[in-house]
Amino acid sequence: MQDSLGRQIDYLRLSLTGRCNLACIYCRGGAGDTEWPDAGEPGGGQDGELSMGEIKRIIPCTTALGIRKVRLTGGEPLLREDLEEIVAYLGSVPEIQDLAMTTNGQGLARRAAALKKAGLGRVNISLDSLKPGVYREITRGGDLEETLAGVRAALAWGLEPVKLNCVILKGRNDGEAGAFIALAREQPLHVRFIELMPFRTAAGIASAGMTSAEILETHGELRRLEPETGPVETAYAGKGFRGTVGFISPISQPFCRNCNRIRITADGKLKTCLGHNRELDLRSLLTGPDTALRSAVAESAIAKSAIAEEIARKPGGHHFGEGFVSQRTMDRIGG
Ligand code: SAM
Repeated sequence: MQDSLGRQIDYLRLSLTGRCNLACIYCRGGAGDTEWPDAGEPGGGQDGELSMGEIKRIIPCTTALGIRKVRLTGGEPLLREDLEEIVAYLGSVPEIQDLAMTTNGQGLARRAAALKKAGLGRVNISLDSLKPGVYREITRGGDLEETLAGVRAALAWGLEPVKLNCVILKGRNDGEAGAFIALAREQPLHVRFIELMPFRTAAGIASAGMTSAEILETHGELRRLEPETGPVETAYAGKGFRGTVGFISPISQPFCRNCNRIRITADGKLKTCLGHNRELDLRSLLTGPDTALRSAVAESAIAKSAIAEEIARKPGGHHFGEGFVSQRTMDRIGG
């Protein structure tokens, strides 16, 4: 459907969990920032996460409103033991034409085949450093080799195009942009540099985010690719590259006027803008006190019209540059 600004909303990012096995310094709160609602329905996912049953009730409402592309995210989606089952369900929904997942890749190698067979189309793997020590430091404990094994498995099982999400931080991994670009030259990998967004966990290091222009300045070999450049990403490549290099610049070049996405958090809140605190509690629409009195058809009609109303009100743009403070960190929204 279109929102009130005429943007065609067809992309849902569905967070499956707020839990993560890494704690990237700019993404996740430290010790003491572990609050997470615990209001899941009996038999649902852990820690109040949407259950398979809830997902099966919510998804048809969104596809009826025009969602055609779904990305699974988190937290870390691989922590959901029923991930393959969720993928198989989403893969069976005829309206969903593109099913992707964003993951840190830890443990992906062991599950890539099963996920592909279940119907997963492709993966984006977050990878901020190619140096084991720096990777461990940024992720607070991650094993670089595990993630690289995940990248290899994704290529081997055809979870393609395989994209690598990389946030460059001054003083941490800013010397590695060239090594990432070399990966795109030598392998069919699509490296995407994403600008750091100032969530509260990133606040202490916000000044350390590197802009797309700063990275491009030192890489004159890259040429802009017109057909590959999309609504949120500017794509580049150099001569003989097997992959591409993308720049996602929400801070220096906001793309809100092209934004086609909505998000559902792991605890069932619909968010139509990453840079806005508005939320619609989908669970209360599905499991309100009078649920027993409603038929499934009536419940779905109520949820659909509430979702449509919320999409219509999607904010025109984020306010990251104007002191906006998100009540949720990225891992609690679904990046
Ligand atoms: N655990 C999965 C992963 O690591 O890809 C999925 C969730 S993670 C929140 C998704 C993406 O959000 C990662 O690529 C991460 O780098 C990005 N991210 C988190 N906080 C961010 C921030 N403040 N600015 C920009 N990107 C951020």
